Amino acid sequence: MRKIGILGGTFNPPHIGHLIMANEICDLFDLDEVRLMPTAIPPHKQLADTATAEQRLKMIELAVMDSDKLVSSAEEVNFGGVSYTVNTMQRLIEKEPDSEFYFIIGGDMVDSLHTWYRIDDLMEMVQFVGVGRPGTERKTTYPIQYANTPLIDVSSTLLRMKYAAGNTTAYLLPSAVDHYIRKEGLYGTSKDN
Ligand code: ATP
Repeated sequence: MRKIGILGGTFNPPHIGHLIMANEICDLFDLDEVRLMPTAIPPHKQLADTATAEQRLKMIELAVMDSDKLVSSAEEVNFGGVSYTVNTMQRLIEKEPDSEFYFIIGGDMVDSLHTWYRIDDLMEMVQFVGVGRPGTERKTTYPIQYANTPLIDVSSTLLRMKYAAGNTTAYLLPSAVDHYIRKEGLYGTSKDN
């Protein structure tokens, strides 16, 4: 049995919160790898001021390029449409019947699990792992495991605000991702930077 972690999200852009949680869960649960998987169209989020799905995937590829355990997954971007996790995981389980899947979520997502499409079916398909996030509490009515990982008070929203304001973003995300954002002129940066 291969043990595969999945960290789904919008990654608009990816940041150290994502990377640290993925690494920590990889070690704590002795996973073979953790796949960072951007949504095509997210069901619950308005992607205003956003990068395209292809750009979000590219940023993840850059973010994990120096890691041997963290990898990018184009599963949802290539499939397209609204990305419902239950459908994605059904496809992955069919493709990889000898793998066991751990679906990693931050504390804010734990709070909203009841709104997920076919959450009860999804609960049967994967092992959920919750990660603490500043401003969220550890309470859930669902049988998920919680892991003790460092609390990282960084979000993609914070980064988008910093880019728009022209503030420094150093150390909050990998420098290769930072360079890509400035090269592409994303989030209000100027292409000339
Ligand atoms: P935004 O600010 O745009 O809402 P975000 O920073 O929450 O974005 P997402 O790509 O939506 O990033 O998050 C993907 C997954 O990672 C979600 O499960 C989210 O809860 C989790 N996550 C993101 N940042 C952190 C963090 N700093 N600590 C814990 N979990 C996090």
